Amino acid sequence: MTTTARDVSVFGDAITYFNEAADLLGLDAGMRAILTHPSRQIIFSIPFQRDTGEFEVYTGYRVQYNFARGPAKGGIRYHPGVTLDEVTALAFWMTWKCAVVDLPFGGGKGGVTCDPATLSQNEIERITRRYAAELVEVVGPDKDVPAPDVNTTPQIMAWFMDTYSMHVRQNTPGVVTGKPIEIGGSRGRTEATGRGVTICALDQMEKMGLKPETARIVIQGFGNVGLYAAKLFAERGCTIIGISDVTGAYHNPKGIDIPAAIAYSGKHHNLAGFTGGEKISNAELLTLECDVLVPAALEKVFTAENATQIRAKLIVEGANGPTTPEADRIFREKGIIVIPDIMANAGGVTVSYFEWAQDRMGYFWKEKEVNERLQETLLDNLHELQAIVAERKTTLRTAAYMLAIDRVVKALRLRGVYA
Ligand code: GLU
Repeated sequence: MTTTARDVSVFGDAITYFNEAADLLGLDAGMRAILTHPSRQIIFSIPFQRDTGEFEVYTGYRVQYNFARGPAKGGIRYHPGVTLDEVTALAFWMTWKCAVVDLPFGGGKGGVTCDPATLSQNEIERITRRYAAELVEVVGPDKDVPAPDVNTTPQIMAWFMDTYSMHVRQNTPGVVTGKPIEIGGSRGRTEATGRGVTICALDQMEKMGLKPETARIVIQGFGNVGLYAAKLFAERGCTIIGISDVTGAYHNPKGIDIPAAIAYSGKHHNLAGFTGGEKISNAELLTLECDVLVPAALEKVFTAENATQIRAKLIVEGANGPTTPEADRIFREKGIIVIPDIMANAGGVTVSYFEWAQDRMGYFWKEKEVNERLQETLLDNLHELQAIVAERKTTLRTAAYMLAIDRVVKALRLRGVYA
């Protein structure tokens, strides 16, 4: 049997990127060992009652990967593909993502192996409350701060916050970010990941001589990341020639009417039947000739099998882990520039940080202030990466890991290893 990319551990792939940067930094074996092991992995059962009255049991996870720079931080994913390996990789990436944009957080991630499409809102609420209750001792504003991820919404964050607050007998909005604004969420959080993708992309495009008015963009995924990235690219005058979601992909060389696509997916809950573009396969979408390609769905989208066929000039990773190390090597050889996930999609966690800070102050900012601070945070750090690339003749991904590892290692050495 041949081994496909899917069989390889996601965490194993993630460590490949870490090692490349660690080699360039000359990192010693002890530090490498510490940083390639998660601090804590928690697995638990979530028994819950179906609306029919029957009981079922799902599996919940929370991985707290590293605490050197602050409390663990990272989303909760509800998806049938959730495994300990995936959650660990995602928590590992959160560690470097928070460090790359210099947030005072470590890295964490959680998940429940389930398919929310088969669950009612009441069932999702019960699962969420039990998930939160199982974690009461180990989460908190100074311990570990969850947030939304694939298939988890502000409403789910509200249930998480309420359950935690009930247990500790104290209203604690800072235990989770991505909440509705009415109960301590931040303005600008919902759009933040997509906004960050466009901020990073437009900056890199300028350096490559790609003008927004003539740029053709393809976006894979039309959830919280892809949808807002499409909206903001379109607002900047870019032409979005391809979009997709789980129902399929849609191509229009003249440009898809993004407000119409957003309205359509809002009404129908997906893009099935959308007529604003020719229906093509997801594989065809990824190989469309374009200037900027934005994977904004799940991991392992670009593999050794399809990387040679990619015809974009710039890839901006809205998703976490969309590129396998084999595909990354091919992109490097082909001269395709990649803004890596830990930089490109850091806008979400950056505004999560702003939300956590606002909750602790009890003083909330205007949207303009949030967006300005977001832009400043992302561009300051992206420019650092571009400088490392120029100096070390490496890729943005390796530069991002180098900067992030250096920041985490500095914190770790200052604190010392409690052994
Ligand atoms: N789930 C998002 C991510 O992968 C956001 C995490 C957060 O805001 O803590 O970056």
